[in-house]
Amino acid sequence: MFACAYCGESAGLRLWHGACRQRHAAALEQIPAFFPKALRSDMPASGFGNLARQIARSAFVKDKELRRAVEDGLRRLIDEAARARDLTPAQLARIYEIAAEFEFAPEDVTRLAAQRR
Ligand SMILES: [Zn+2]
Repeated sequence: MFACAYCGESAGLRLWHGACRQRHAAALEQIPAFFPKALRSDMPASGFGNLARQIARSAFVKDKELRRAVEDGLRRLIDEAARARDLTPAQLARIYEIAAEFEFAPEDVTRLAAQRR
């Protein structure tokens, strides 16, 4: 008998439950995809952070995996902001607010922006 690599419950003779693995993979795609949309959303950064963390928890996403997904999301958010020509200062400030919500410093945002090709 094995414990599921995701939820930790017994998975019989398998290493994981198919549904757990699927939920985990879906969350890792869903979380970064939220970020560019957050630029024009009215949701407070804290609400956005809570939502992302809630999805991560319910899909057995580990802290390290979440951090990578957030970094990917911040890249997409910066890309979206760089493409837009009509952003308000408040929308630009949102990038830093959202980054801070996930404990990414302003320097991290600068670094990610510098990595854009
Ligand atoms: Zn499971």
